[in-house]
Amino acid sequence: MTEKEKIAEAIRKLYSRGLITLSEGNVSLRKGDGFLITPGGLRKDRVEPSHIALVSLEGKIMCGKPSSEYLLHLEIYRKRPDVNAVVHAHPPFVLSLASAEIPLKYPVLAEAVFLLGPVPILEFSLPSSMDLAAKAGEASRRHDALILENHGAVTLAPGLDLALAMMETLERTAEVLWRGLLLGKVKLLGRTQVEELLALRSRYGLPPRDWRPEDFLWSL
Ligand SMILES: [Zn+2]
Repeated sequence: MTEKEKIAEAIRKLYSRGLITLSEGNVSLRKGDGFLITPGGLRKDRVEPSHIALVSLEGKIMCGKPSSEYLLHLEIYRKRPDVNAVVHAHPPFVLSLASAEIPLKYPVLAEAVFLLGPVPILEFSLPSSMDLAAKAGEASRRHDALILENHGAVTLAPGLDLALAMMETLERTAEVLWRGLLLGKVKLLGRTQVEELLALRSRYGLPPRDWRPEDFLWSL
């Protein structure tokens, strides 16, 4: 499968899994001195490999019509040389919790702890703006998953499959927390368990991050 085919498949997967609507979301993959990215203005269930655009790391559009959110991808690739894939979606449970000002920094699910770490919510900026791109780029120095207030979420990883899996894990975590809050009880992991989980990153070939138990929230 070519890189463009992988990107087109990834955006269609986000749509089929309910993580975006027809007009939302974008996916990119680093390529040489730039990145390939999904197009703007097309239904996301109809994106084909030939629609994928190319943007240079100087921000120049080299080929096609990139998503209007390409600046966000650009800033992340500039700040994080280890990142090769960026996924931006609008996952409904994540957005519901964020709009209720319930953070996703609670250690609820084991995999989410070491894959996503403590996920910050970035203060609102207009979609597609340089302001949003700058905030996301800055936050990406410490985080691999970000929530954009009243807007969506971003995951970044060394590869596209992992960035997609992280978006799904983020949404699953939000759904479990949502259901737990409705049931009236959410059992959080313990501090020692979180330390042990963070140490698992190397076993899964994930680059080290400096997340600590103090970065998570411990009372709901
Ligand atoms: Zn968006």
